Parts: sequence; structure tokens; C-alpha cells
Amino acid sequence: MKIAILSRNPKLYSTTRLVEAATARGHEVRVLDVLRCYMNITSYNPSIHYRGEALTGFDAVIPRIGASVTFYGTAVLRQFEMMNVYPLNESVAISRSRDKLRSIQLLARKGIGLPVTGFAHNPDDIADLIAQVGGAPLVIKLLQGTQGIGVVLAETHNAAESVIQAFMGLNANIMIQEFIKEADGSDIRCFVVGDKVVAAMKRQGAPGEFRSNLHRGGTATLVRLSPEERSTAVRAAKIMGLNVCGVDMLRSNHGSVVMEVNSSPGLRGIEDVCGKDIAGMMIEFIECRLKSLQTAKQDS
Ligand code: ADP
Ligand code: GLU
Repeated sequence: MKIAILSRNPKLYSTTRLVEAATARGHEVRVLDVLRCYMNITSYNPSIHYRGEALTGFDAVIPRIGASVTFYGTAVLRQFEMMNVYPLNESVAISRSRDKLRSIQLLARKGIGLPVTGFAHNPDDIADLIAQVGGAPLVIKLLQGTQGIGVVLAETHNAAESVIQAFMGLNANIMIQEFIKEADGSDIRCFVVGDKVVAAMKRQGAPGEFRSNLHRGGTATLVRLSPEERSTAVRAAKIMGLNVCGVDMLRSNHGSVVMEVNSSPGLRGIEDVCGKDIAGMMIEFIECRLKSLQTAKQDS
């Protein structure tokens, strides 16, 4: 196969691992800076160009599109899709997962357990909204945030009100959530490939830190998932329409709840902790999908 990896930086751990895994399995692979891809979308013969060269002959594309380039990145990915290049995750699923509120609404509709979450626009509704999520302490999240930035723990009602007012004053979109205290600064990352959780880890925030993000100094250890957690992770991935994703959960008193579904989960922490070749599993998944698509085409 000829595989394109859309990534801003070929030196990133996840990107180099995917290149290694694809090469080891005998594939040709090319890392493309998504912001250097350009295209003519009016053409009846869709094409993508890269530093003056027309990109042709790709069988599959692996999107590793960072949150800051979602808009342009998904447009490029869509163009690959128009050229019948198989995307490991589809552009529409990536866009869906990048909107935290939309994701939560979709998951809630399908009965996935979630932290109690509220959303409002007008400052006059703040007090009622706080009451609806069970009062302080509570977590306030910027919808556009990532890597734990823009996630605030408000310990008291007054703190919650002033932080929410401040965010609203800046026209930022936020949601507020019950604080799952019993998670004790940890969360569970389930790495889903296809219809399986292939690896899972527990991330623990630095002492005194309620956010467990590895980017915020958290540490990761191996964790055993319950059968319910496994099936919830796989269902969440299906609902979002993602073939590969990281489903983050909090272990709460009312069962494990899904916090978010990440369409570009990092490989570093999880491969180290689990000692598994997850990059290889992602390539293998593409191989299987392309094979069954080919068989379906031959049969029709
Ligand atoms: P980001 O997408 O920026 O990583 P998250 O929503 O995943 O934001 O939140 C960052 C971290 O904060 C999580 O990994 C978790 O440890 C902690 N956290 C988030 N929401 C809650 C919550 N409702 N209760 C307790 N801890 C939370
Ligand atoms: N892309 C990173 C991951 O999914 C971000 C996670 C984080 O916020 O720590 O692993």
C-alpha cells in the first residue's frame, strides 16, 4: 500500500512510530504537512498538490490533525476522501469529535454514561445552571481547549460564578460539569482500534493537580478495565464514527463516565505503558479494511 500520514511534524513520536510500523509491514509511506497541501476543489478530477507536485496513487491516509488545524486539516482530508483514498478516521468524524458539546450530546442520546453537564449562553442563567449540575465544586471547560488547558476546577459557588462570568465576558464557549472528586486526579485512557480496546492506561495527575493530562505532568500506569468499561469505550467510538480513538473515562461513584473521545490519540504513553505495537495494529486495521473493500468491489 501507499500510505499518507497527515502530520505537522515528522519527528513526533506518534508519527515516527506509524512510519516505522507501515515500513516494517512492507508499505510505502509519506508524511505530509497538512498545511502545505493545497487543492483545486472545483475540478471534476479532484487533486491535491504538495510543494508543486500532484499527489497521486495513495491507497490510505492517516490523519494526525492537531486541534489547532482542525478546519484546514479536515478540508484536506475530505479532498483525499473525494479521491477515494481510504481515511483511517473520516473527516466528518474528526470534526464531530472536536466539538466537545456536540460529542457529549451525541453520546448522551445513545445512553453513554457521562458527567452531569450544563451549557448556557446568558450570564443571567448561571446560578440555575450551577444548581443543575449539583453545585460547587464543579469543573468549567472551554469548548475549544485541549491538553487540559481551559479546564478549571471551581471549588466554591462564588468562584464558579466569577469564572463563568469571566469566560462569558470573553465570548468563550464553555460547559460546566459535576466534579468527579472520587476519580482523585486520575482518568482512564482506552485506546480503541476498530471494535476493540487494544490498550488502556490510568493517568494520574501530579500531586495537587486534578487534571491527569500527561502534558500537565501526569503519569501513566497499566490498568485493568471492567467488561462494562470496554464495551462503553467501543460503543463511544462507534457513536462518534471513529475507527481509531482514545476514549477518556472517569471512575465515578455512579460507574465509569466518558469524558471525551480523542480522534488523534497519542501513542507515546500508551505504547510504553502497555508494551504493545499499537502503531502496527493501526496499519493492520487499514490493511484489513482495504482488503474487505476490494472484495466487496469485486463481488458487486
Ligand atoms: P482536555 O480535552 O483539555 O484534556 P478534559 O476534559 O480531558 O480536557 O479534562 C482534562 C483533565 O481534567 C481530565 O483528564 C481529568 O483528569 C480532569 N477532569 C476533567 N473533567 C473532570 C470532571 N468532570 N471531574 C473530575 N476531573 C475532571
Ligand atoms: N493528543 C494527546 C492524546 O490524545 C492529547 C492528550 C492529552 O490531552 O493529554 O494522547
